[in-house]
Amino acid sequence: MQILVTGGAGFIGSNYVRMLVSDAEAQGRRPQVTVLDKLTYAGNPANLESVAGRVTFVQGDICDAGLLARVVPGHDLVVNFAAETHVDRSIEDSGDFVRTNVLGTQALMQACLDAGTRRVVHVSTDEVYGSIATGAWSEDAPVSPNSPYAASKAGGDMIALACARTHGLPVSVTRCGNNYGPFQYPEKVIPLFITNLLRGRRVPLYGEGNNVRDWIHVEDHCRGIQVVAERGAAGEVYHIAGTAELTNRELTTHLLEGLGCDWSRVEHVPDRKGHDLRYALSDKKLRALGYAPAISFDRGLASTIDWYRTHSAWWEPLVGDAGPSPARPSPAPQ
Ligand code: NAD
Repeated sequence: MQILVTGGAGFIGSNYVRMLVSDAEAQGRRPQVTVLDKLTYAGNPANLESVAGRVTFVQGDICDAGLLARVVPGHDLVVNFAAETHVDRSIEDSGDFVRTNVLGTQALMQACLDAGTRRVVHVSTDEVYGSIATGAWSEDAPVSPNSPYAASKAGGDMIALACARTHGLPVSVTRCGNNYGPFQYPEKVIPLFITNLLRGRRVPLYGEGNNVRDWIHVEDHCRGIQVVAERGAAGEVYHIAGTAELTNRELTTHLLEGLGCDWSRVEHVPDRKGHDLRYALSDKKLRALGYAPAISFDRGLASTIDWYRTHSAWWEPLVGDAGPSPARPSPAPQ
């Protein structure tokens, strides 16, 4: 099976590509994977170094219909990770978010329709639902996004689902909670805090740190996407829920403890504009297909801390002296 992974040089996409390659090789098959990635600031060829020569890489934009018409045909499965993903950047300027997350998704879905692609998975987020005080969203909850990032992801989801309903495109949409793990760009809260603490710096905690997020190890997310690709139904949404619901304060405690630091290393910064209080997903529908997360938060976080500790050559060029985005000392989870 020939698989096209758009956004495959980013955090989750590159973990997914590594999973595809190791699964194929474990079964004695040659991996048949193409990565299409624009290589924005978040896309990094180093993320694919361990599979270099075993996947085909195309640098390009999912908004480029001409390029898609050349690249998409011949692939049996297309999985779309390509997106602008950092909420704080979307609050400063949402132009690229609308362009890639809405128009890019539309161009990709159209290219899949034109090519007659047999299976498509569009990767999305719990943030499209807004914020939920108690309980958890099921897949039929209405979208009610608050940040420009979430609004652009909701727009892309709607286009993908409309292509399924109107044209019969065999696309499923996955929505996941907050991911953590290796190769995450150090502007998101977990790698930002780890790399700051490893460098002897303080970490910026929004407000009182009461916002709640549901954390999932990136490898569990990738397994969930694969279950949807293989067993999910066209035109359906599937949730991939986390394994640890934590306030940002609790998360900070875990990170400080994991790195042998205390609360003197925490700097309280003004809260993010429009900061959603809580996200929570019900994943019953995906579990009915046989999915279950395998990595506990404690184990996953310990291995993630260890990865950043031993891979400073990967993250040091990204943070420089001043950090990844000095104007934006953000603990933003996404
Ligand atoms: P990321 O920012 O690390 O990577 C995004 C990748 O997309 C980068 O490699 C970038 O170069 C590429 N890209 C951006 N614009 C492009 C374009 N126009 N054409 C081609 N490539 C382009 O993001 P991530 O954290 O890996 O997220 C991947 C997907 O998962 C996104 O759709 C995101 O909304 C979704 N998601 C992320 C999380 C999370 O916690 N990180 C949670 C739920 C869902």
